[in-house]
Amino acid sequence: MLDGDDLALEIDLPALLDEVEFFDAQTLLAWALERFGRRLAVATSFQIDGMAIIDMAWRIDPHVRIITVDSGRLPSETHALMDAVREKYQVPIEVFYPNTAELEGFVRREGLNPFLRSVDLRKQCCSIRKVHPLRKVLGGLDAWVSGVRRDQYFTRSDAQPLEVDAANGGLIKVNPLITRTEAEVWHYIREWDVPYNPLYDQGYTSIGCAPCTRAVAPDAPPRAGRWWWEDGGHKECGINYRTD
Ligand code: SF4
Repeated sequence: MLDGDDLALEIDLPALLDEVEFFDAQTLLAWALERFGRRLAVATSFQIDGMAIIDMAWRIDPHVRIITVDSGRLPSETHALMDAVREKYQVPIEVFYPNTAELEGFVRREGLNPFLRSVDLRKQCCSIRKVHPLRKVLGGLDAWVSGVRRDQYFTRSDAQPLEVDAANGGLIKVNPLITRTEAEVWHYIREWDVPYNPLYDQGYTSIGCAPCTRAVAPDAPPRAGRWWWEDGGHKECGINYRTD
């Protein structure tokens, strides 16, 4: 297992990608858990992809670290699911919150729902409530696991099983589900009786903060229910949006 301080010097991404080239999701997770140990965590917002990863990882290592950011605007269904995860898997969930002073200043300046006024304010809200707290946590890790799939959105279509997360300090981002389809993830959820957010049964296909997520028509693009009032641009909060 690598020491955290030495990791940045030792990352040879092409070599690592060669090593994992033919790994399926579980094999990649097992490889990552073995390689990075407690300096790896599953970061999740408890959507179906994250739930499948939690279940897979827990079957490999029942003490796997699970981290999440509570933006303060999550639906009650997501909070209930977090408790269901805690109960079923008997693992603590490491919940992180926005910086109080930063959030208070933003709300005082811009109000409680500034995201409705402009894309720029929406991105500021996402940064303060989600990206900055996650970035702080990731700073203490060598690797994190995400639920990104290539078929979710155009910004994710070239995602690789391992990436260097330059935006968060250069740690490794492990993406076990990139080649899985939404149907395959649902198959896993049903097969293993994995708990999931009941909002999916109400027509939601992507679930984030309550005021910024809604149900969509069955044939709508998967992320159509996120920030649905915005025209153009990308529908990412910044956590999984790669600028490299
Ligand atoms: S999803 Fe909406 S409420 Fe949540 S952080 Fe982003 S803009 Fe703010």
